Order: sequence, then C-alpha cells, then structure tokens
Amino acid sequence: TRLDELDDIVTRCRACPRLVAWREEVARVRRAAFRDWDYWGRPVPGFGDADASLAVVGLAPAAHGANRTGRMFTGDATGDFLFAALHEIGLASQPTSLHAGDGLTLRGVRLTAPVRCAPPENRPTANERDACRSWLSAELRLLAPRLRAVVALGGFGWQALLPAIRDTGRPLPRPRPVFGHGVHVVLPAGEGLPHPLHLLGSYHPSQRNTFTGRLTFPMLVGVLRRAAELAEL
Ligand code: SF4
Repeated sequence: TRLDELDDIVTRCRACPRLVAWREEVARVRRAAFRDWDYWGRPVPGFGDADASLAVVGLAPAAHGANRTGRMFTGDATGDFLFAALHEIGLASQPTSLHAGDGLTLRGVRLTAPVRCAPPENRPTANERDACRSWLSAELRLLAPRLRAVVALGGFGWQALLPAIRDTGRPLPRPRPVFGHGVHVVLPAGEGLPHPLHLLGSYHPSQRNTFTGRLTFPMLVGVLRRAAELAEL
C-alpha cells in the first residue's frame, strides 16, 4: 500500500461506533446550522509530505477543526498555532490553515494523529485509541525508510505513539520513556529502519495550553526547530 492509498482507505473506517455516530452527528447538525460550511464528518488522514523525515503526532481531529475541513490540524486556532510555528522554521508555506483547498504545503513534514475521528470532549476511550492504532502503525511503516524524528504533541499522543513505533519493528526502551515538554529520546536503528528515531515531546497547542501560557509560541518553535534539525530539514 502506498501512503495516498492508505489515506484513502482510512477515510472509510467505521470501526468505532461511538465515534462514527459523533462525527456524523456533529457534521449533520452543523451543516444544517451553517449551510455554507461543508462538513467532512469522516476519519481524517495524515497530511503533508509523503517523503517526510519528520512526523508530528497530535491527539485526534477537533469537532469543528479537522472534522469540518477533512485536513489534519486545519480550520481552528490549534492548527493556526501549529502552522505558524512550522512556517516560522520554514516547513509550512503559510502560517494559517483555513481549509483543505487553501494551497498550504509542508516541506519534509507529515502531520498525523493516533485517533482519526473527532471524539466527544476531545477524549477518545482506551478502546478507541487501541482500535485506531493500526492506521498510525501502517502510516509510520510507510514513512519508516526516511523517518528520523517524531514530535508527540501532548501526553495522549505520546502514549499512543510508543506502541505504534514498536509495531514498526523498533524496540522500545524499558522503562517506557515518560512524556514531558522538551523530552528527547533516541530509539536505535534496526532492520528496515536505516535511521535512529528521535522522539521529542511538546505540550499540545490546544487553546487550553496556549491561552494559559503553559505552551508559548517560542516553546513550540523550540521543539519543532530541534526536531527539524535532527530530521535534517
Ligand atoms: Fe476507524 Fe480510527 Fe475512526 Fe475508530 S477512530 S472509526 S478506528 S478511523
């Protein structure tokens, strides 16, 4: 399977009944309320460069962000914060993310999430997280030959990412590395995995973190810049 084929297949997944119901309900209600808004209301595939050496892994699509636009981290304040930071270091062609047809391109970066459907309250269950892991594992496997660094945005992304990395054949250190902002762990190369993988943690750019100053713009830029250097971008 190629990455574009995987992206196409994931949009048809209906494995989690609660999330299928929620994503479609949000889309139906909002479509009725805002007739000019075209709601995606389906699983959201990864977005960015198919030859990426850097992956950025969030949590899940936001109900009125990526669940509306169909493109990861697109159409809300969280996405704008992230794309402004990627633009600052030369990895995004523009600092905002309006909709899927806005012409935004990424250089060397792939944005993805361990859960592809918008969950109520932004909280997927453990079962939903585990059900969705096969999509992230498959995506990481396809990126593996070039992948050098991954940034996990938030503790949920970090926790979900570790087993998906293990699924690609890269053993995890014991004890498992613990999430924190600025944490940096190096996972060794292996068979079919030509490069060591640098795993970095950053607080998630949700408004809960950015409004309170827990995550500032320079903090996010700092982690992404470091990851871009390690990914040789
Ligand atoms: Fe499928 Fe993942 Fe959506 Fe569950 S969350 S329905 S596994 S795409």
